[in-house]
Amino acid sequence: MKPFMARVVQKFGGTSVADPEKIVRAAKKAALRHAAGDQVVVVVSAMGKQTDLLVRLAGQITDSPSARELDMLLSTGEQVSVSLFAMALQSMGHKAVSLTGGQIGIRTDSSHTRARIQSISTDHVRGLLEGGAIVIAAGFQGFDPDGNITTLGRGGSDTTAVALAAVLNADRCEIYTDVDGIYTTDPRVHCGAARLATVSHDEMLELASLGAGVMHSRSIEFAKKFGVPIIVRSSFEDGPGTEISSGLTSRRTVSGVALAKDEARVTVEDVPDQPGASHQLFAELASNGISVDMIIQNAGTGGTADISFTVTNQDVPAALEITNSVAGRLRAAGVTHDPDVAKVSIVGSGMVDAEGVAATMFDALSAAKINVHMITTSEIKVSVLVDRKNAQKSVEAAHKAFGLDGFVDESFPGDAAPVQKSDPLEVVRRLEGMEDLAIEDCQLDMSQALVTFMNLPDTPGVAAAVFEEVGRAGLNVDMIVQSFPRNGRAEISFTVPASDRQRALAAAKNIAQTRGAETTDVPEVAKLSITGVGIRSHAGVADKLFAPLADAGINIDLISTSEVRVNVLVAAEHGERSLSILRTAFELK
Ligand code: ADP
Ligand code: ASP
Ligand code: MG
Repeated sequence: MKPFMARVVQKFGGTSVADPEKIVRAAKKAALRHAAGDQVVVVVSAMGKQTDLLVRLAGQITDSPSARELDMLLSTGEQVSVSLFAMALQSMGHKAVSLTGGQIGIRTDSSHTRARIQSISTDHVRGLLEGGAIVIAAGFQGFDPDGNITTLGRGGSDTTAVALAAVLNADRCEIYTDVDGIYTTDPRVHCGAARLATVSHDEMLELASLGAGVMHSRSIEFAKKFGVPIIVRSSFEDGPGTEISSGLTSRRTVSGVALAKDEARVTVEDVPDQPGASHQLFAELASNGISVDMIIQNAGTGGTADISFTVTNQDVPAALEITNSVAGRLRAAGVTHDPDVAKVSIVGSGMVDAEGVAATMFDALSAAKINVHMITTSEIKVSVLVDRKNAQKSVEAAHKAFGLDGFVDESFPGDAAPVQKSDPLEVVRRLEGMEDLAIEDCQLDMSQALVTFMNLPDTPGVAAAVFEEVGRAGLNVDMIVQSFPRNGRAEISFTVPASDRQRALAAAKNIAQTRGAETTDVPEVAKLSITGVGIRSHAGVADKLFAPLADAGINIDLISTSEVRVNVLVAAEHGERSLSILRTAFELK
C-alpha cells in the first residue's frame, strides 16, 4: 500500500460541475490534493440543473411516473458527471476511476426517490485508493436488496459524501459548493447574512432540517453519528469556509436563522379529548411516509382539543386525505388547512444558557407587525409559523434582532491541522442500517410547572407582550408552545421551574386580566426528553411515542420535536411509568 498523508472525501455540487470548464477546475482541486500525498475520493452531483431537467422530462411522458423508473432516470445525471470528471483527471495524468452507487456497494432500502442508506462496502474503493487511484463516486444513488437503482432524495449527494467519509474513516469531508461556507441565513434570502467560521453538528442538523438547503440534513446525521468533520467551501474561490464538527462550543446565542418556505398547516378541530386520538392520526400519516413537523395540540375546553401540525406543501393532498378520514372516525368537528405559510426558526447551541431568547424573537416579529400563527421551542431552537408573504421580512427581523447582520465570526476553523475526530455515538454500533433512527437516551424531568393562557386575542405582538412581561417577572421559561388560534383567540403554554410557579401564576394572571384571557396551570408536570439523531427526518418518531403512551391511557399535554430531541409533557403522576414505557418503546436499557 502506498503511504498517504490523509484520506479526504471531496464533494462537488451541481453548480460546481455545471460545464466542462468547471469540471476541469474541480478536477484540479482533487488532483492537487492527490499530488500532495492524500488519498482522495470525489463525490459528484449531476451537472448544473440536470436533475431538474430529467424530472421535467419524465413529466412530459406522464403525470405519475413510477418511482422506480424515476430513480433509473435521475441516477443517469450523476453517471454523466462522474465519467467526465474521471476523464478530466486522467487527462491530467492521474489514475482515476468513476463508480456508480451500485459499483461502490451503496446498499439502500427500497423507498424509491427517498431511499436510506443501509450499508456501504468499502473493499472496492479501498483497493482502488491503495492502488493510487482517485475514486470518483456518483452521488445521490444506491441499489436496493433486489438490485434496483435507488436515489436518496433531492440534494442527496451530500449524504453520499459524508456516508462515504464515515465508512472509509476519512480525516474529513470537504463540501465544495456555490457559497463560501455556511451563513447565518441563506445569503440569497437576506443580503445581511454572514459566514460562520464554525458551526456544531447539532446546530447544523437543526438548521438543515429547518430549511437551510445548503446541506442535505441527512448528511449531518451521518456526520454526527459517525463523527465526521465537514468543511464547506466555495468551488470558485479559496477561503477558509465553515467547519462543521462536534463539540465546538461557540459563545453565540443564535447561530442562524432558517426558513422553510413551502409549508402548510393542517388543523383538526374539536377532537374529543381522549388518549389515542393523536396516535390514530399520526400513525396513519407516518405509515404513508408523511413527515409532520410542528405538532401542537391545544389544552382544549369542554372535552375537545384542536390538533395542528405542519407538513411540506408537496405532502398536502395526501395529508389532507388521511387527516379527513381520521377526523371523521374521531368525530372531530372538521379539518382546516392553510397552504400559504412558512416556518422561520432561530437556532443556536448557546440558547440553553441564555434568557429571553424567544421573547427577543417575538419582539422583533411584533415590531415588524408580523402575526405569528404557531410557536414551538426546543433546547436549541425556536420556530414560528407565519404567512408565506411575511417569510422574508420575518427572517430579516430575527436576523437583525440577534445581531447577525454583518456578524464577524471569530471562532477559528482548524482547517490546516487535521481535525480531531470525535467518537461516534455508542448507539450506532447497535444499528442495523447506517441511516436508522439513533435514539441515545430518554430522561425524565419532574421539576417543571406548566402555565397556559387561553383566549388571548390573536393579534400581532401578543406572544411578544406575554413573554416580555414574563421576562420582566424574572421567570426562566423552558418550553413555549402557541397553538393555532380559533375564532380570533390564541392559546399559549409555557413551562417554568416548579419553584417559580407562584410567581409565574401571579404574572400570568396580570397579563391575562388586561387582555380578557384566562389562565390555567399544572403545578407539577413530567417532562420526558428523548434524544438522538434523525428524530424529525424519520417519519413516525412522534407516533412511536404516542402509541405506547396512548395504550397505557396516558395523555400527552404538550409535545415539541427537533432534529435531535423530542420533548413531551404528561401529568406528573404518570412520569415514572411514561419513562419506563418510552425506554421500552425505544429499546433503551
Ligand atoms: P450544491 O448544488 O453545491 O449542493 P445547493 O444549491 O444545494 O448547492 O446549496 C447551496 C445553496 O444553499 C446556496 O446557494 C444558498 O442559496 C443556499 N443556502 C440556504 N441556506 C444557506 C445558509 N445558511 N448558508 C449558505 N447557503 C445557504
Ligand atoms: N443531483 C441531485 C439533485 O439535484 C443530487 C444532488 O445534487 O445532491 O438533487
Ligand atoms: Mg446541495
